[in-house]
Amino acid sequence: VVTGGIVTVKDSSWLMSWTINRQPQFRQQPKDHCLVWVYALFTDKPGDYVKKPMRECTGKEICMEWLYHIGVPESEIEDMAANSANTVPVMMPYIDAFFMPRAYGDRPKVVPDGAVNFAFLGQFAETPRDTIFTTEYSMRTGMEAVYTLLNVDRGVPEVWGSVYDVRDLLDATVKLRDGKKPIDMELNLVEKMALKKVLSKIHGTDIEKLLKEYQVI
Ligand SMILES: Cc1cc2nc3c(=O)[nH]c(=O)nc-3n(C[C@H](O)[C@H](O)[C@H](O)COP(=O)(O)OP(=O)(O)OC[C@H]3O[C@@H](n4cnc5c(N)ncnc54)[C@H](O)[C@@H]3O)c2cc1C
Repeated sequence: VVTGGIVTVKDSSWLMSWTINRQPQFRQQPKDHCLVWVYALFTDKPGDYVKKPMRECTGKEICMEWLYHIGVPESEIEDMAANSANTVPVMMPYIDAFFMPRAYGDRPKVVPDGAVNFAFLGQFAETPRDTIFTTEYSMRTGMEAVYTLLNVDRGVPEVWGSVYDVRDLLDATVKLRDGKKPIDMELNLVEKMALKKVLSKIHGTDIEKLLKEYQVI
C-alpha cells in the first residue's frame, strides 16, 4: 500500500529523493516524531550543499543536504540537522541486483518442475508476468508456492497485464520521454510528411482521441 509520494530533486547532484509515508512507521515511534526516508542514487558525486560524496557522509551531513534541497535557510541547516533530527545512514550496495538483466531460466520457478515439498519465494524466484521490487511480488510467490504444493483451490491474485494494454504502453512511452510528445521528436522532411499524412488519416477517429488522451499527440 502506497501511503506517501516520492519527491525527487531531479537536478540534485546526488539525485536525491525523499518520501514521508503514513506515520507512525514503527509501533514504538513517539507521536511527535516523523520518520522521513531520504535516499539518493549517485553516491559518488559531491553534494550541492555538502561538498562530499554521499557515501562518505555522516547522517548529519546527509540530513543537511536534504534540508538544503527542501529550502531551509542556510543559517538554520546545521543546527536543525544536529539537534532536531537523528539521521541513520544505510548503504544498500546490492539493491540493483534485483534489476540485473536476466534470461528466462536464470531464476528458479517458484515451484520447480517436479518439486513436491519445496519452493522458492521472494524477488529472485520467477513468477509469470509480475515485476520485481514490490512486496506484492514476494506475497504472490508465497501464495503460489502454498497453493501449488498443498493443492489449495484458490487463484493467485492477477497481475495487471499492462504490457498488453495499449493505453499503458502509450502512457509509458510519453513518461519515458519526460512527458514530451513523441511527435515532437526531431524528424527529417520525409518523416515529417509521413507524420502529417498519418495525423490527417486519424483525424476525428477514436485513435486520435486515444493518442490525445495519453498526450502522444
Ligand atoms: C529502499 C527500498 C524501497 C522499497 N520500496 C518499495 C515500495 O515502495 N513498495 C514495494 O512494494 N516494495 C518496495 N521495496 C521492495 C520490498 O521491500 C521487497 O521486495 C520486499 O520487502 C521483499 O520481501 P521478502 O519477504 O521477499 O524479502 P525480505 O523482506 O528481504 O526478507 C528476507 C528476510 O530473510 C532474512 N534472511 C536472509 N538470509 C537469512 C538466513 N540465512 N537465515 C535466516 N534469515 C535470513 C533477512 O534478514 C530478511 O528478514 C523496496 C525495497 C527497498 C530496499
